Amino acid sequence: MHWFKDISIKRKLTGIVIVTSTAALLLAGAASFIYERLTFPKNLSHDLASLAGVVGSNSAAAIIFNDDKTAAETLSALQAMPNIVMAQVYRKDSTVLASYLRRGEPLTTLEAPKGFSGENFTPSYVEVFRPISVGAEKVGGIGLRSDLRAREERLWAYGQAGLVVLCLCLLFALGVAGVLQRVVSLPILNLARIARGISEEHDYSKRAVKDTRDEIGSLVDSFNNMLTQIEARDSALIHAQGELEQRVRDLQTEVDERQRAEKGLAVKTAELQRSNAELEQFAYVASHDLQEPLRMITGYTQLLAKRYHDKLDETAAEFIGYAVDGAKRMQGLINDLLTYSRVGTRGKPFAWAQCDKILGDTIVSLRVAIEESGATVTHDALPTVLCDEGQLGQLFQNLLGNGIKYRDSTAPRIYVSCRREGPNWLFSVKDNGIGVDPRYAERIFVIFQRLHTRDQYPGTGIGLAVCKKIVERHGGKIWLESQLGQGATFYFTIPASQNAEGG
Ligand code: ADP
Repeated sequence: MHWFKDISIKRKLTGIVIVTSTAALLLAGAASFIYERLTFPKNLSHDLASLAGVVGSNSAAAIIFNDDKTAAETLSALQAMPNIVMAQVYRKDSTVLASYLRRGEPLTTLEAPKGFSGENFTPSYVEVFRPISVGAEKVGGIGLRSDLRAREERLWAYGQAGLVVLCLCLLFALGVAGVLQRVVSLPILNLARIARGISEEHDYSKRAVKDTRDEIGSLVDSFNNMLTQIEARDSALIHAQGELEQRVRDLQTEVDERQRAEKGLAVKTAELQRSNAELEQFAYVASHDLQEPLRMITGYTQLLAKRYHDKLDETAAEFIGYAVDGAKRMQGLINDLLTYSRVGTRGKPFAWAQCDKILGDTIVSLRVAIEESGATVTHDALPTVLCDEGQLGQLFQNLLGNGIKYRDSTAPRIYVSCRREGPNWLFSVKDNGIGVDPRYAERIFVIFQRLHTRDQYPGTGIGLAVCKKIVERHGGKIWLESQLGQGATFYFTIPASQNAEGG
């Protein structure tokens, strides 16, 4: 059946019409052929019975008078009927009075049944016997035999007529197929042409013309509906694409601007780092170089006071005292500044160091202050960390020193502990001193930022800035948790590593 799928609709329609009409005609022909074959002998026997009646009554007188010549003459009239093969007229005692035999037929006899009444059907002929009566008296009988040639002729005529009708039907079928093709396949071909055009030109505004309201009409409707939807989607798509392109352009502009800004930022950061380094270097050099003249000022001012104390009045001695005090403060400030600038510029490479030991050394160096204030310093087991040992010592010293310095009337108690928090060690230095208002918890880490006057608590405001710088150099953070009057806890983190586990 594959070939059927591949041929054109026109051929399919033609084929279907021809096959259907031929099949109908053949069926009708076969039915009439069978009917004719079955009913013909019966009809023929009826005709023969009528004929026997007519010929028999014409032969009745000849039988009574035993006139065989007249009987034979009567029978010879049957020549007019070519299908009659033979006929015989019988006397009352069943002997043959006269016979008729179609020319060319071999001589035989017709066996008359008793009472001269009956029919005989064979495949090639039909025999009919009838009694001949005069009034109520049966005087003899007649028998006729007919061949079935008439049936063949009739069937042959039927066949020819059928053939002619078949040819006419085929012509008609071709005509019908042509019409059907116009009605069915032309609209479909039209649709296909439009669809092809649309797919080539992408013009979705085209529409197929609807000529009928049948299935093809609804196909055209569906096709047009589909085109309407595609057209709507296409325009939505074009719109969306436009928006998308605009968005991409905007984004590109944004990215360009950001890249420009980042470049600018990188340049500024580099500049800042450079100027920072320069500043640190400057601060270091300046504070370092300032120390010497300052020492001279202090030394010579003190010498002046010592040597000429009897020549100077009280006011002069007081002024000299101020000068020495100012020079000493300046020395302290310069020292602190030097320490601050050294964190970035003079730091040592990191090495594994035990925090217990570092803290122990710090406590020793703060021994005088601890004893004077009656402070107690306790701590947990501390880990081994990768650090600049000197700077970590400085960090502990600043925090512990502050804890001792910013005390109230009670003796200071300082507690140092450490625990692991994720990838870091979290250190805490807790004191019971005056505490800090949480509002200033961040400010105190800024250089020179102090919350007290020098008369209340001496200092330069650099210590915590140094602590912040040290912690940040180690990759950690530092912050304060405190309430005014309730002591302060400084936290800082130092990155841990598995090898640095310790206690
Ligand atoms: P300094 O101690 O020289 O003033 P710091 O940078 O060490 O400078 O401290 C800044 C300020 O933070 C101090 O002036 C003080 O007001 C406050 N501060 C620091 N540590 C403590 C503490 N443990 N308790 C209360 N206040 C503190």
